[in-house]
Amino acid sequence: MKSLWDDADATRAVERMAGVGRNLALRVYSSRLIGADHDLVLHGGGNTSVKGKHRTLLGDEVDCLWVKGSGSSLDKVEPRDFPALDLAYLRRLRALEALSDEEMLNQLRTHLFDASAPNPSVEALLHAFLPHTFVDHSHADAVLVLTNQPNGEALIREALGERVAVLPYIMPGFPLAKAVAELCERSHDIDGVVLIKHGLFSFGATAKESYERHIALVDACERLAASRAGEQRAVTAPTSRVKLATIAPVLRGLLSEDAAGSDSGPRRLVMEWRGGSDVLSALADPSITRLAQTGTLTPDHVIRTKAWPLVIDGLAGVADVRAPIEAAVTAFRARYDAYFERAAAGKTATLKKLDSAPRVLLVPGLGALCFGKSKADAIIAADITEHTLRAKLLAERVGRYESLHDDDLFDMEYWSLEQAKLGKAGERLLERQVALVTGAAGAIGRAVAEALAEAGAAVVLVDRDEAAVQRAAADLETRFGKGIALAVVADVSEDASMKTAFEQACSGFGGVDVVVPNAGIALVRSIESLSSVEARRVSDVNYLGVLNTIREAAAVFRAQGTGGNIVVSASKNVFAPGKDFGAYSASKAAAHQLSKIAAIELAPLGVRVNLINADAVFSHGETASGLWQEVGPDRAKSRGLTMPELESFYRDRNLLRTKVEARHVGAAVVFFASGRTPTTGATLPVDGGIVEAFPR
Ligand code: ZN
Repeated sequence: MKSLWDDADATRAVERMAGVGRNLALRVYSSRLIGADHDLVLHGGGNTSVKGKHRTLLGDEVDCLWVKGSGSSLDKVEPRDFPALDLAYLRRLRALEALSDEEMLNQLRTHLFDASAPNPSVEALLHAFLPHTFVDHSHADAVLVLTNQPNGEALIREALGERVAVLPYIMPGFPLAKAVAELCERSHDIDGVVLIKHGLFSFGATAKESYERHIALVDACERLAASRAGEQRAVTAPTSRVKLATIAPVLRGLLSEDAAGSDSGPRRLVMEWRGGSDVLSALADPSITRLAQTGTLTPDHVIRTKAWPLVIDGLAGVADVRAPIEAAVTAFRARYDAYFERAAAGKTATLKKLDSAPRVLLVPGLGALCFGKSKADAIIAADITEHTLRAKLLAERVGRYESLHDDDLFDMEYWSLEQAKLGKAGERLLERQVALVTGAAGAIGRAVAEALAEAGAAVVLVDRDEAAVQRAAADLETRFGKGIALAVVADVSEDASMKTAFEQACSGFGGVDVVVPNAGIALVRSIESLSSVEARRVSDVNYLGVLNTIREAAAVFRAQGTGGNIVVSASKNVFAPGKDFGAYSASKAAAHQLSKIAAIELAPLGVRVNLINADAVFSHGETASGLWQEVGPDRAKSRGLTMPELESFYRDRNLLRTKVEARHVGAAVVFFASGRTPTTGATLPVDGGIVEAFPR
């Protein structure tokens, strides 16, 4: 590992953050260097601090600690992510015999200089008690490869000599902060402290000194691990014949848990799959079965991955994969329940058991299937899993990997301060769900996809237009987060194409919960001039496209066994047809009727099928409606109007005199998708009120 410190970059950082002072700017700069290296920290792991003077409103200069806020990621930190605390007061807390976690958090919050600052890191007191100006803390893979061994301390001594003090594992919090401070006072001329099975602290008088000491210590650990590990044996990874798209929805269904009284149905999880050659060869290693029984690399991973992964082997050649997968998940749940019962029995406080579903499923030949309550959480679990596999296998070559005891992992998993990082409060309506929208690059499709993403769903955007659907997905990711949208190019009128689209949804997110058949095309023709070829082309998309979408959705819903919602975008024309629009109206009416049959047939699976009849939607933002580009000029001409006049005409003809917008259709989809009412087979007009189109 090499230092990435660059004096010119550091100077630029100081200039860019001129308002916050040199030391805090350099603190941000070197924190980002640590955060950018995933061999040091992953997603919110690690923390850093700097000490200095804070000037109060009254002009007093007081000692101040700026420490990273809880949950923020070092690679993206800004000065505002470092809450400023009353250092002199915090140091006086060291005299206390004990300090509960809740009181520690209260003390930190009540000694901020800015009441609106984020919560300081759970390791803030540790930073406060150390005398050094700069303190850097990581969970470096190389340090953990050496410390997570039966002879971890000896290995650290061999790698780092007397440059560090070494502390056996103590759970983060007040006792650890005191222990590290005492150890540092007893030790002289050290660059840092190694916490066994947890990570590394380094310190220095300047940002550069603390950072470069950190890198040098990790580098020495990397070099010792490499020399002890010897040559890596070549493992040829067999590839599985079982398809990811086949097992993902089965697994996703088995990992869901019932949520009594929830409008959103069962508590589901969203998947992120990793199947690169690194992962596949790790899973082919003979030691993987034993390693899978061992705990996390560092304690704070437990809230992301649970204490252990689940290996599911022996799927090759099995006709029905459900039975072995179900047996494996059931065994994991039993192990988790026993772990909870045993550890919780020794506690004075009554703890509420979290769900017992695994988050990381290792399938040799196929890869790591990682789950979280959102795509973002699943990606975090997956990144941790890739590092964990690599580090555990390296640790096995160095010696023998040994994790923390289950009781220590349990204390971390159920530590209120760690659970707070997951932000359990206020889940959005469609959090944990995956939605698939066809015709997703069009005006209504984009608005529906946006509404679903805004409600918390991951979204699969299906469209024939590759460039447009990629653009729509990229826009959603910009607004709602990396990985939450998946663009799929498919033609709803082709059976095989839709089968592939749903397979991509299952490989991308694990399955599907909300399906919106929305793709449609229009044609203006009187019956006297309508050929069957033209009518069939419209019907292939508007009617058979809905059939293909519902049929493939039903297969996934059946595999998951957790119900679902289908919301079909029909048309106001179903009840109120107009002349020259036979091919369109008849195909929409057929789709409407088919959807009602689907409501009957899919009810036993807990799947609801509802319909939306929207009146003319001309555009959504920059996206013009393809349908209205097609039919608008004819419609305008037949009424003797210009296009802008036509929009006004549609607005003025409804009871509420309202312009119907694509976002209104999106809101209606979210209403049905949320399952707030026990409704199926219903049609909701989104048309401002048109008497002849009232559902009947
Ligand atoms: Zn830590």
